[in-house]
Amino acid sequence: MSAILRKGGSVYVQVEPLQTLVKRTFTGFGSSETESSRIGNRLSGANLRGHDSHGVIRVPRYAQWLQEGVQIADVTVNVKMENEVLAVVDGKYGFGQTVGEQTVDIGIDKATKHGIAITALQNSGHLGRIGDWAERAAEAGLVSIHMVNVRGSLIVAPFGGIDRRMSTSPFCAGIPLDDGEEPIILDMETSVVAEGKALVAMKGGKPLPDDAMISGAGEVTGDPRPLYGEMRQGEFPDPSKGPGALRAFGNHKGSGLNFLMEMMAGALTGSGCAGAMDEPKRRFCNGMFSVYLSPAAFGHSDDSFVSEVRSYVAFVKSAKPTEPGGAVLVPGEKERQVMAERTRTGLPLAPEAWSDIIGTAREAGLSQSEIEEILDGAP
Ligand code: NAD
Repeated sequence: MSAILRKGGSVYVQVEPLQTLVKRTFTGFGSSETESSRIGNRLSGANLRGHDSHGVIRVPRYAQWLQEGVQIADVTVNVKMENEVLAVVDGKYGFGQTVGEQTVDIGIDKATKHGIAITALQNSGHLGRIGDWAERAAEAGLVSIHMVNVRGSLIVAPFGGIDRRMSTSPFCAGIPLDDGEEPIILDMETSVVAEGKALVAMKGGKPLPDDAMISGAGEVTGDPRPLYGEMRQGEFPDPSKGPGALRAFGNHKGSGLNFLMEMMAGALTGSGCAGAMDEPKRRFCNGMFSVYLSPAAFGHSDDSFVSEVRSYVAFVKSAKPTEPGGAVLVPGEKERQVMAERTRTGLPLAPEAWSDIIGTAREAGLSQSEIEEILDGAP
């Protein structure tokens, strides 16, 4: 049976063949099999959880970055400075899927031994869906907090301003429960939407909320085009080119939280803030400031922490829903619902995004028959 189904203006692709296609694409461009698998699994994992903006739509851009040397294949991080509970790590512009995993594993190892740990990751390639890292820490039984910025990506206007001064700077935290129980994962950018969601809207996918953008003329709008500006036929949208900006969520409060991400992930890690006067266009990278906490280090020798969390989750979810038949969800629950559905249906992709992914696979050297073999049919 073909891995592709066309329905309602979308292409539905089954997860495993998609992972294989992305993996073969990146081995074609020079990443090892291990790194290419990580990229395929993490990007399709983001689609599986409903975060299409951080999923396989990124394949053409990652490929472009790899070819231009913006991101480097198969990097091993450099631990620049460390003690028992802190590591300052240089990601050396490696793929975030690789250097993010290495860094988080350093944090997990230190916190497992000493109860608490901090990692400060600088110069990382795109770290994708930050929830991946909180989930990895939760699997090891750790609470974690991740503050992330995007150096070289000025696409968010501060509250009260029109000009771009910030990145989309996600904040993420994970709370583990018992083995076999899903963790709580709050994973959110500090802009109304991620740049990737504007990209999805540009590619014919889900439209943006009406307050997502500010145009160059200062009008609040849901039109993604002010972010990308005029484009040539076939040109991949570049968010650095438009006259407009994304807006920070929550007015002055979201803008303040975004600013804090720049302080922690940009300034404190040493990775550098989104932009500054000395360098008009800084080299693109993610910075990530992460904290890992073992509940046992707080005196929870029995299951008192997990019991308290479990009981509070039940209390919150017992609130009367605003919509008849609706439900109150806790952070991370929505993603699990979407994952259950998409595991059945396959991953919905806008046709233009799908044809870009196939085009990138061809650029990587895959023949039509190889692509058909992976997908068990024509793309
Ligand atoms: P979102 O708005 O879909 O979800 C944000 C949070 O709200 C999630 O924790 C989710 O579980 C929760 N949530 C969603 N619906 C809910 C509901 N009905 N009730 C209660 N809680 C609910 O996510 P987002 O803010 O658009 O973030 C998208 C992704 O982009 C994230 O994975 C983020 O890490 C990623 N991102 C990455 C970068 C980067 O540079 N690597 C930059 C920006 C964003």
